[in-house]
Amino acid sequence: MTVVVTGAAGFIGAALVRHLLAQGHRVIGVDRVAQQPRPGLVVLNADLLDRDELVDAALATAEAVFHLAGRPGVRENLPDIDRRRQRDNVTATARVLAAVPPEVPIVVTSSSSVYGGSRGRPSRENDPLRPRGGYAQSKVRAEQLCAARHDRGGVVAVARPFTVVGKGQRADMAVSRWLEAARHGTPLRIFGSLDRRRDLTDVRDVVRVLTALAERRVRGIVNVGTGRSYRLREVVEAVAAACDADVAVEVVPAPAVEPEETCADTRRLRHLVGYVPSTDLHAVVARQARRAVEVLT
Ligand code: NAD
Repeated sequence: MTVVVTGAAGFIGAALVRHLLAQGHRVIGVDRVAQQPRPGLVVLNADLLDRDELVDAALATAEAVFHLAGRPGVRENLPDIDRRRQRDNVTATARVLAAVPPEVPIVVTSSSSVYGGSRGRPSRENDPLRPRGGYAQSKVRAEQLCAARHDRGGVVAVARPFTVVGKGQRADMAVSRWLEAARHGTPLRIFGSLDRRRDLTDVRDVVRVLTALAERRVRGIVNVGTGRSYRLREVVEAVAAACDADVAVEVVPAPAVEPEETCADTRRLRHLVGYVPSTDLHAVVARQARRAVEVLT
């Protein structure tokens, strides 16, 4: 199959490209930043909002499209961050949805942040949304665009990943920041409390799920998580073990966009793709740590 991956140079996008190539697909990767060349990968270096003919043709003729391009980062606070989020998370999604024929499956990555945290029980796909901050709000707007395609009979799956961990994780994400601090012997900065909890999903599982959603032509919203949340103190322990170092922590007030706990209700995921990932925290953090060292050396 020929498939398009937008955001192919990113953390999850690059892992998805590797996975799809290993399955024998022809992959067209679209990103505005450079992608690592690979056999079987057609690289399109373009911004989704530029009218690029090759991108248009790829989106119009692909057999499946994975739309991962976006502006992640809940805590980013550049002066024009709202405009950038609207552009890359919402307008770019509208552009992709408009370019792909309705019968072709599209998988769009939204985010668990649309829930605003779990309240005493795992978050379900039909829970009322309580986005905290501009990132989560932009993802809600992108989901509304997907809902419009769905209502017109189009094939679109909206994946809501919970925090994704593993090889290649973005440098602004917690495990990356903490591994970096542990290596430099500086305190790990923790927002709020070590008892806050996160549902952490291994990026290798996330790409398997995204692929299954396209293969099964899933329509509608689905959580991509494990249904188990780890305390931040357990994540800190895994970081210390991966670096074989004693670590100090510095607890600072949590920004308002940071919920106490996230946890996925995984019943719909199990029903749709037949399995639910489970995360071996120490193993995935150790793998991420090894990869970071390889990149540095
Ligand atoms: P990332 O920043 O590593 O990758 C996003 C990629 O999209 C980047 O390479 C960027 O250059 C590209 N991009 C952005 N706007 C573009 C545009 N207009 N045209 C072309 N390329 C563009 O992010 P990630 O962590 O891999 O996340 C991928 C997607 O999954 C994002 O939509 C993000 O919001 C979502 N998500 C991520 C997580 C997580 O834990 N990493 C959790 C939930 C949802």
